[in-house]
Amino acid sequence: MKSFFPHTDPPAPGSVAVFGVPTDENSSFMRGAARAPDTIRGALLSESSNLCTESGVELAENPRFADLGNLDIGTGSGAREEIAAAVTRLLEGRLKPIALGGDHSISYPILRSFASAHKNTGLTVVQFDAHPDLYDTFDGERFSNASPFARIMEENLASRLIQIGIRAMNTHQRQQADRFGVETMQMNTHGVPVALELDGPVYVSIDIDVLDPSFAPGVSHPEPGGLSTRQLLDIIQRIRAPIVGADIVEVNPDKDAGDITARTAAKLLKEIAGIMLQTG
Ligand code: MN
Repeated sequence: MKSFFPHTDPPAPGSVAVFGVPTDENSSFMRGAARAPDTIRGALLSESSNLCTESGVELAENPRFADLGNLDIGTGSGAREEIAAAVTRLLEGRLKPIALGGDHSISYPILRSFASAHKNTGLTVVQFDAHPDLYDTFDGERFSNASPFARIMEENLASRLIQIGIRAMNTHQRQQADRFGVETMQMNTHGVPVALELDGPVYVSIDIDVLDPSFAPGVSHPEPGGLSTRQLLDIIQRIRAPIVGADIVEVNPDKDAGDITARTAAKLLKEIAGIMLQTG
């Protein structure tokens, strides 16, 4: 699919730059997420809604909201290098990237570039997810969608990692979380945080399976007992520190019901883009 607001010129500094990462080769359980970027775009542009955010930011024909289309990446370590290089180019252009996955493995190469760009200030990563994704390896694979936050913490790419919505923490991942100093907010003990105490800059990683499967059935790893869409939006809208980048991952169109998960991802994209544009 072509980008929704194609720009012939590079977007101006400070613009939000959306790009798709159509890959699911690192999915540990089922494929499908590679088709999500175009499905989310289709939902965003559906005439059933408009492109105004809840706080009044108009994204339609907004020169500061650019869609750069999908990355054309290969496989394996080459794909990781291409993702990292693409994000580095966006950050060098002083853009605010939002990645549409793809599976969650893409957050590791993306955050390599963000960490490099923010090495003087440190970077707080807020991960919304049912799963900690902290496996040292999963089925012998170090770069699967079950492991990105182990790689991120090993390489000190985040000064803080806050995980919200967790409800599938096993013993190994608990040990990993302790080892890395991850701030875990489990559903059973923390529920829905009212407000996060954050210093900027902040990177937001949204695995759509943080939502309860009744709100987002189109995922590969549904885990009952999750957040509502409204609860997730409330947490994000209360973030006061500047959000410098985000990803929305793990939408699986093959498992969706009535496009609700794609529409929810598009809603999150819209709201986060609006927040990023309002904060400088
Ligand atoms: Mn997950």
